[in-house]
Amino acid sequence: MRVSKLFTRTSKTAPADEVAKNAQLLIRAGYVHKEMAGVYAYLPLGLRVVEKIKQIVREEMDAIDSNELIMTGLQRKDVWEKTGRWSDEVVDIWFKTKLQDETELGLGWSHEEPIVEMLKAHIRSYKDLPVSLYQFQTKLRNELRAKSGIMRGREFVMKDMYSFHGSAEELEAYYQRTIDAYKRVYERLGLSDDTYVTFASGGSFTQFSHEFQTICDAGEDVIYLHREKNIAINEEVIDDAVKELGISRDELEKVKTAEVGNIFNFGSQKTDEMGLKFTSQDGQQSSIYMGSYGIGITRVMGVLVEKFADESGIVWPEAVAPYQVYLATIGDVAEQADALYDELRNKGIEVLYDDRDTRPGEKFADADLLGIPHRVVLSPKLIEQGSFEYKMRTETESNSLTKDELFATLSAA
Ligand code: ATP
Ligand code: MG
Repeated sequence: MRVSKLFTRTSKTAPADEVAKNAQLLIRAGYVHKEMAGVYAYLPLGLRVVEKIKQIVREEMDAIDSNELIMTGLQRKDVWEKTGRWSDEVVDIWFKTKLQDETELGLGWSHEEPIVEMLKAHIRSYKDLPVSLYQFQTKLRNELRAKSGIMRGREFVMKDMYSFHGSAEELEAYYQRTIDAYKRVYERLGLSDDTYVTFASGGSFTQFSHEFQTICDAGEDVIYLHREKNIAINEEVIDDAVKELGISRDELEKVKTAEVGNIFNFGSQKTDEMGLKFTSQDGQQSSIYMGSYGIGITRVMGVLVEKFADESGIVWPEAVAPYQVYLATIGDVAEQADALYDELRNKGIEVLYDDRDTRPGEKFADADLLGIPHRVVLSPKLIEQGSFEYKMRTETESNSLTKDELFATLSAA
């Protein structure tokens, strides 16, 4: 992509009402546009990051035999009434609307009840189980506070997965496989060092649910952590959990975190309530055991900005950067830069080519603000020497590389 053709304008300032670092930087760098508090449009660069995060999650969910689908954003009231969750007292973040004939509808904040209802038309016998389904969807939630930028949206992208099993043991085994798949996701996103599987409230079958909490000052959660023993407990359940695990609270460190994922064992509670059953091998109508597993795609993007940004701007991990290389020219070197741009792209390297007629300082500042992992500079003098100036986003010094060295460096990244 040539910067001259890119629909993105960087700026030195963010909107005065934007208090979150992640959104300030993402707006300044042209990744997102703020429509209103908690509601952001994803511009071309932002969309590329979202898609890369989604692709990592997609590969790992596919690897545990889950099937991707897409459910509906408009939801039926009667479906949610079956579990009592249509009530605004029970679920305090509903957006609701009406058809022209006054029929009430919900705007999807979760898809647990709708997927159970849908499966009544698809699951008959033991032969149809187990099944795991997932989607990426824009969830709508009327959150009370939306001051954390894209980390807490009123409109945000979630990956939600649901699994259905003929026995509690089989669900438990799949739940563990999902924990491992989630660990691989956060590893690939560069977050594994700071992400903990955390005991949290709200298992309806088991005593606890599990959250994936990433240490982050801008996060809204507090957990108690034992790094060596790899034990993490959400403060919501600290009293119960220390008793259960037989550890002392004094051993634990209190840290601020962002919940980047959540997994939940519903047992057969929800499916029983909603009347989703299957015919077992011996002909009995039997209960179905359900798990529910979320990852906050756009929240993860915000967390990456919060954790890795420096004073010059965003620093993307290689795996989610919108482009790998920022190619900047100094002076009139269009012919050579065009050729290098083509050659890099032919090698499958994603390049953002700053072909604008602007000052080098401005190009370098944008390369840093945008957080592109590798920067390559071409100038008449460098061309004369047969070399390329190369710098990593995370380093301050640049190196002079030959063309072979440059390609070797970029291919290894
Ligand atoms: P929180 O406690 O932060 O409100 P939650 O318990 O409501 O989260 P879930 O309903 O389990 O979250 O949603 C699954 C995942 O979606 C969460 O782990 C989080 O990463 C993400 N998420 C939840 N709410 C938001 C939001 N308002 N904006 C962005 N991401 C969100
Ligand atoms: Mg919530």
